[in-house]
Amino acid sequence: MSGLYLHIPFCRKRCTYCDFHFSTTFENYRADLIAALALELSLRSNEATTIQSVYFGGGTPSILSFAELELLFKQIHQYYTLAQDCEITFEVNPEDISLDNLRFWKGIGINRLSIGLQTFTDSDLIWMNRAHQVKDGLEGIKLAQQFGFNNISVDLIYGLPGQSLSAWKASLDAVFQLKIQHLSAYCLTIEPKTALNHLVRQKKLQPAAETLQSEQFLLLIESSRSNGFEPYEISNFALPGFHSRHNSSYWKFQPYIGVGPSAHSFDGKSRRWNVRNNTLYTQKVGKSESWYETEILSENERRNELILLGLRTKWGLDEALLNTHWTQKESAQIEEFARLNWLKRTDQQIVLTEQGKLHADGIAAALFRVD
Ligand code: SF4
Repeated sequence: MSGLYLHIPFCRKRCTYCDFHFSTTFENYRADLIAALALELSLRSNEATTIQSVYFGGGTPSILSFAELELLFKQIHQYYTLAQDCEITFEVNPEDISLDNLRFWKGIGINRLSIGLQTFTDSDLIWMNRAHQVKDGLEGIKLAQQFGFNNISVDLIYGLPGQSLSAWKASLDAVFQLKIQHLSAYCLTIEPKTALNHLVRQKKLQPAAETLQSEQFLLLIESSRSNGFEPYEISNFALPGFHSRHNSSYWKFQPYIGVGPSAHSFDGKSRRWNVRNNTLYTQKVGKSESWYETEILSENERRNELILLGLRTKWGLDEALLNTHWTQKESAQIEEFARLNWLKRTDQQIVLTEQGKLHADGIAAALFRVD
C-alpha cells in the first residue's frame, strides 16, 4: 500500500510563522505548474502499489479551481489504483469554504477535510497574517458538516505570544464543541527565516514561555481524552476510527509518493525530494534534467528515523525493527528515562509517557547513532 501526496505551492497571503514551500505570486505560471504536477503524476505511477490515501497539502490546495482539480483527479484515476476505501484528504483554508466548493470537492471524491482554523482569537489571526477570521472557520465547518462531510480535522496552534492557559482551555472547549472527528494541534515554533522571527527580534511579539507551552500541551492531552479523542501522535488526536491514515503511514515508516515542488517521497529504503522552487520544478519535470534528489538511508539513518517517528506515536518504537541491540550506554539511557517516568517499555515496545512527550526530541536524540 502507498500514500500519495500532492503539494500545491500557492497561497494568498504569507502567514508570519510559516516556513513551508509556497508562493503568493503564482498566477503567471499557475497553469504550467499544474500541468507539471499532472505530468509528474503520470511519470511516477510505476512506483506505486494500491493507493491507500491521497493527501492534498501545501500551500493552499483549496485555491485550486474546479478545472485544475479535475485534471489532477483524472491523472490520479488514470495512473493509480485507489483502494476502495481510500482516504482522500484536502487541506482547506476557511475563506475558501462555500456551498459550491463543498459540492464540487465532495463530488470529485474528497472524503476528509483538514481545515486550518489555527486559533479562536481574531487578534491572533491578524498578527499571523491569515486570510480568514474566526467566524469564517466556524461557519465553514458547520456548512461542511451540513453538506455531509463527516471526517473533518481542524488545525490549531498553541504556545502563541500572549496566550494564557485559560485562553488555550477556552479554545479547546470550543474546538471539541464543533463535533469534528480529528484535531491537529501544533506548538508554535519560531522558524529563522519567517516574519514572525522578525517580529520577535523587533520585540513586537513576546514568545510564550516554554513552561507555559508544556502546561498547554498537558492540558491538550487531558482535554482531548475527556472529549473522547485519542492522542495517537504528539500533535494529533482522533475519535476512534478517525486517525489520519495518510499521516500515520509517515509515522509507521511506510512508503509514499510525493509530487509537486518540495514534496518528499519514501520507498522503504531511500528518500527523495523534489526541487523547492516552482519555476525550476515546472521547467524540469519530465525533461532530461532531474527535478529531484535521492538519498539511500544508511543503517544508522534508518534506525534514527524509526526512533524519532516511533516515539512520537501511541504505537511507540518497535525495538524489533531496529535490527540491532542497544549498546550498554543506550540501555542505561533507556533505564534512566524509564526511572524519570518518561517512557514505558513493554514486550519490545517503547512508548513515551505524557511527561516523556514533552522531551520527545531529546529522548530520540539521546538514542541516535551517527555514521
Ligand atoms: S496558508 Fe498555510 S502554507 Fe500558506 S502561508 Fe499560511 S500556513 Fe503557510
